[in-house]
Amino acid sequence: MPTTSAEIRPFSGHSVCLFCGSSETADPKYTEAARAFGQGVAERGWRLVYGGGGVGLMGASARSAHAAGGRVLGVMPEFLRSRERLFDEVETLVVGSMHERKQIMYDESDAFVVAPGGIGTLEEVIELLSWKRLDLHGKPVIFLDIDGFWQSLFRVMEHSVEAGMTPASFLQAWTVCRTVDEALEALNSMDTPSNLKHDQR
Ligand code: AMP
Repeated sequence: MPTTSAEIRPFSGHSVCLFCGSSETADPKYTEAARAFGQGVAERGWRLVYGGGGVGLMGASARSAHAAGGRVLGVMPEFLRSRERLFDEVETLVVGSMHERKQIMYDESDAFVVAPGGIGTLEEVIELLSWKRLDLHGKPVIFLDIDGFWQSLFRVMEHSVEAGMTPASFLQAWTVCRTVDEALEALNSMDTPSNLKHDQR
């Protein structure tokens, strides 16, 4: 059911944005984590906001959330529709650009979870964290650090702090969870007020 931006169905509960890989060759432990996360989000009555694809971890999370009866909003740029095999069994917004995709994902979400992924996921989380650094948003960012997938990124950030490029306090800008249950629990206990939805960018 692809729609246009004017048609996003209202949702009054919590929305969780998942950034994750689109690869079909990812180690199954990562895809399984994405599947379990999608199911957990749906079981808690939260909406899953994601990139709209039917491939890789993205597809696994959306399918499981949908199968568990949850609300899912996918946001897909037109030019990636076939490449990322748009998953059209859920509400999906087809937009004109990557920037538009991310803006809508940010605006529609109360918190962000970053599961293992490739360069696209990296790009998304780096922008998300750099915006947090600029105080453009204050929404929670949780890394789903399955088997230490994200540890090398954290080391880069620590290096940046040691070199005086980033204040040490910025290392508190995200939360690291080692399991899906931990991430769901962290989301549950986080303050994710909807007034954060109206941040200025
Ligand atoms: P990957 O982690 O490389 O498998 O990509 C995960 C998702 O990130 C895919 O849906 C990509 O289309 C998406 N992506 C890659 N680059 C960007 C970008 N600049 N803006 C928005 N999404 C992106």
